Amino acid sequence: MEKSIIKIVNMAFKYNKEDYLFKNFNLEIKKGSFISIIGKNGSGKSTLAKILVGLYKADGYITIDGYLLNDFYIKEIRRVLAVCFNDADSHFIGETVKDDLVFSLENLEYSKKEMTSSVEIISKKFKLENILEKSPDMLTNSEKEKVMIASCLIYKPKILLLDESIYKLNATDKKLVFKILKEYQREYGLTIILITHDLEDTLYSDDIIVLDKGKIVIHGSKEFIYEDDKLEKMGFNLPFIVKLSHNLMLYDLLDRVYFDSGEVMKKLWP
Ligand code: ADP
Repeated sequence: MEKSIIKIVNMAFKYNKEDYLFKNFNLEIKKGSFISIIGKNGSGKSTLAKILVGLYKADGYITIDGYLLNDFYIKEIRRVLAVCFNDADSHFIGETVKDDLVFSLENLEYSKKEMTSSVEIISKKFKLENILEKSPDMLTNSEKEKVMIASCLIYKPKILLLDESIYKLNATDKKLVFKILKEYQREYGLTIILITHDLEDTLYSDDIIVLDKGKIVIHGSKEFIYEDDKLEKMGFNLPFIVKLSHNLMLYDLLDRVYFDSGEVMKKLWP
């Protein structure tokens, strides 16, 4: 049985006195998995993210890497779970990109040598070498999001929670960021929780959760979610490659949904 790194049991949360946003909410996230959370505006995605990082308090039982989510363990939880929200500007603390990258390492009392090598490794991966001395104000929106994610991954958290944090990445940077995320998942067992409104992004994940009015309406593997048009029926715009697969399946040109255009080409023109 695969281990869960996040367990939410019987969670309840409400903003106002009358209506619960979450009630009897249960969720387990497997260690080392890459999960996308999607849902219409107002379905509770951001609230769930804020509960998981301890910004909002919910009733029920929540553990993160074995720590009960409460004020007592919040320091341990912050070490385990890194979060990026949708506003990269508010994430910046340092005067330069480099300051920003080392900030978490200073808090974790890394030695000077360890800091230098960590910055070198992460800036090479994210291609930040030429902007290390720049002020965050001088960066493009895409660079800002890259730096924000790099500054989370630099201290190797066990879980990375991205709440609409990649929507300003340009196409090249997005490809690079997803490549790095998959590499961290593979090499270090990083658990990735991606909250997104763009279903194209979900193609990188293993599992998908659909939230609606604080309830999980579907939770399954990407293959299960996209095997038919259930998401389309719920009003979602399916990823291009999924739509294409469905169309080709109608003509018996494909036997299942593919997530990689190269594989589709091979299947059509072996
Ligand atoms: P999503 O991220 O899926 O768009 P949210 O978690 O932001 O959804 O919001 C879920 C529900 O909670 C919505 O009905 C929203 O209006 C409400 N809500 C969000 N933030 C607050 C707040 N600070 N005070 C009161 N209600 C809120």
